[in-house]
Amino acid sequence: MKVYITRQIPESGINKLKEKGYEVDINSADKVLSREELLNALKQKPYDAVLCLLTDKIDKEVFGAVPTAKIFANYAVGFDNINLADAKEKNVMVVNTPGVLTETVAEHTFALMLAIAHRVSEADRFTRAGNYKGWAPMLLLGANLAGKTLGIVGLGRIGSTVAGYAVRGFGAKIIYYDVNRNEDFEKEFQAEYRGNVDDVLKEADFISIHVPLLESTRHLINKERLAMMKPTAYLVNTSRGPVIDEQALVEALKNKIIKGAALDVFENEPALALGLAELENVILTPHIASATEETRSKMSDIAAENIIVALEGRVPPNLVK
Ligand code: NAD
Repeated sequence: MKVYITRQIPESGINKLKEKGYEVDINSADKVLSREELLNALKQKPYDAVLCLLTDKIDKEVFGAVPTAKIFANYAVGFDNINLADAKEKNVMVVNTPGVLTETVAEHTFALMLAIAHRVSEADRFTRAGNYKGWAPMLLLGANLAGKTLGIVGLGRIGSTVAGYAVRGFGAKIIYYDVNRNEDFEKEFQAEYRGNVDDVLKEADFISIHVPLLESTRHLINKERLAMMKPTAYLVNTSRGPVIDEQALVEALKNKIIKGAALDVFENEPALALGLAELENVILTPHIASATEETRSKMSDIAAENIIVALEGRVPPNLVK
């Protein structure tokens, strides 16, 4: 069996494939392959499986370049980079890496949420610049999460984990919106469901976004909805950039429509919306919410395990439907 991996990932999964006797080829350049490079790489050999990344746009043309491939394993839980209709038409299985990164992304969400409320990056810049002249009662005042209302948009694996941490660790009140209501969760965490995203935005002190990128969630947070938020509220996004109209967010932050934002993902990443990087009331991380040593290895393992199961003729555990 032959497997192509579009960029270097942690060794553990690669070793699993090699232990099976599979021939594994990896893009040796530490960069995203251009469209042309990807197509050429896939045409080199009759690969049986492809392990791809969220930075690879996978569609009909890519599947066509490697007609022998039975499975594309995406090294991510999100799969908005893959055209599922094209995969179905070409009879290719698509798998992702759910579950293994849930706690890590929830932790990073917390890192961002607390950092923006406690002005950590701003305070770090201030201190390094030599501006700290002694303790002062009014210096860099922030806001507590404890006892506040956290609004979760998308109460799936990651959203519900973030909510659980906030309730158990900070005594926060949870309100949430999801296309599916979860009454067991509501009981366990005294959480309250809101039937639409607007009601969450109007009421919450912190809002954390955890929906997948779909046509229905593109620009879910737009200019009108940002205007519904409290001027004291913070917005955190570790889902996908295009869920927020990033230029509208820049304007909202500039005009103090909301207090602050913390983003791990960007609408046109790696590019940032004009003016975003100049703002003090925003924290930016480069799509690293799942980037811990442990989790990236587990993602490598699970992608490899799915490929092995599929190539042995069984249904892989993380088949995306
Ligand atoms: P999940 O499928 O468990 O949860 C997604 C939730 O969103 C589900 O409960 C679903 O019902 C809900 N949803 C779908 N469409 C909706 C809509 N229109 N309105 C409201 N709710 C809607 O997924 P997960 O494992 O929690 O991951 C969530 C997303 O986080 C992924 O799709 C991925 O894009 C993103 N993610 C980002 C990183 C990162 O590195 N920043 C890492 C992992 C995941």
